[in-house]
Amino acid sequence: MIGLIIIIIILIIGFAIYADRKRSVHNYQLPSGTKQILTDNVAFYNNLDDKDKLLFEARIKDFLANTTIRGVGVEVEDLDRILIASGAIMLIFSFPDWKYNNISEVLLYKGMFNKEYSTDGADRNVLGMVGDGAMHREMILSQQSLRASFKNPTNGENTAIHEFAHLIDKADGTADGIPEYLLTKQQVHPWIKLVHDTITEMKAHSHSDINIYGATNDAEFFAVISEYFFERPNKLKEHHPELYTMLEVMFHPQAK
Ligand SMILES: [Zn+2]
Repeated sequence: MIGLIIIIIILIIGFAIYADRKRSVHNYQLPSGTKQILTDNVAFYNNLDDKDKLLFEARIKDFLANTTIRGVGVEVEDLDRILIASGAIMLIFSFPDWKYNNISEVLLYKGMFNKEYSTDGADRNVLGMVGDGAMHREMILSQQSLRASFKNPTNGENTAIHEFAHLIDKADGTADGIPEYLLTKQQVHPWIKLVHDTITEMKAHSHSDINIYGATNDAEFFAVISEYFFERPNKLKEHHPELYTMLEVMFHPQAK
């Protein structure tokens, strides 16, 4: 009997949380200038047809209703909110049901910061970061870098895409460069081999077309190559057809 009561209480609490989440998504309104901001700043959005544009707007709305964006020494503007949400949704646009369940807050810093999240002093070379430990469920982005990323949508670098790729990689429990939700079991080993072969190649050549930061480890490789894939797909296809095909299968599985 007590067991039954406990189960009923858990169900009621569960439903209350679910209803609350539903309500917050329902109540949240996108900033009034959203369409204009998207049109002026997000190349990915401009390449969608009208139906998909509406879907994209609905998904950034859902993302922003569930994710706090907080400025640290900087004022968060609607532009920042829309760009962050766009970076998040671009990567998972082919997965209608995918939601980022592993993030609650994005902290926006003005410029670069260091690994201790400090914006003063030396070693400030970090543009974005996905938190671990106490910073679990947090992401940090540099406002300057975020805005610059969308101003140059085809230079192969985008801080938001980079950090959200880490979150997708991390969704299976570990940020190890193997985004298991995007791969079948049979694809895991060919993917790891391709990553390692490419990293070896990058290190051997002084001038790699892939950002050399991607050679740091497998996780950074996945984040860097995702930036390349979304920003310069044709160049990636030309220079690394195998990688391009794998990423196409990962990010646009229904197109295959
Ligand atoms: Zn990274």
